[in-house]
Amino acid sequence: MALKPCRECKKEVSTEAATCPHCGVSKPVPPSEGAQLAGVGCFILVLLAAGYCFYSVASEAPRPNDPEDRSVALVVACEQRVLARLKAPATAQFSKGVHSTQMVQSIEGGRFVVHDYVDAQNVFGAKIRTNVTCWTRYDNGVASVDSLRLE
Ligand SMILES: [Zn+2]
Repeated sequence: MALKPCRECKKEVSTEAATCPHCGVSKPVPPSEGAQLAGVGCFILVLLAAGYCFYSVASEAPRPNDPEDRSVALVVACEQRVLARLKAPATAQFSKGVHSTQMVQSIEGGRFVVHDYVDAQNVFGAKIRTNVTCWTRYDNGVASVDSLRLE
């Protein structure tokens, strides 16, 4: 084992000594530069790993304040409610090609109106277009439908 000067009393102590046998200071010999560098390297690796974990969790978590996510959730909630009202839901085709954020109009109190239309067969088998107006609300990432008007 190597001997090095104590950081307090400067007398020689073992590099492996937990305390200096002369003055009693703990860790009398600072770790060598190589060990310090290795320690810094490990620390950076840990930071990178933690950062990666945080990033992947954050990017998969729902973003309740993201207007696009909110619009999609509101439109999906309305379309599900519309399907429950249709005579032939299997024939339903909702307006596509319109961006969901353009279908959602914000009104006061965290509530939103969704404007949509659906083409579906009626009781006579004829395909007709129905305009959908849907009053919704959005709380903590959960979309719910207050009322629905089909005309
Ligand atoms: Zn000492």
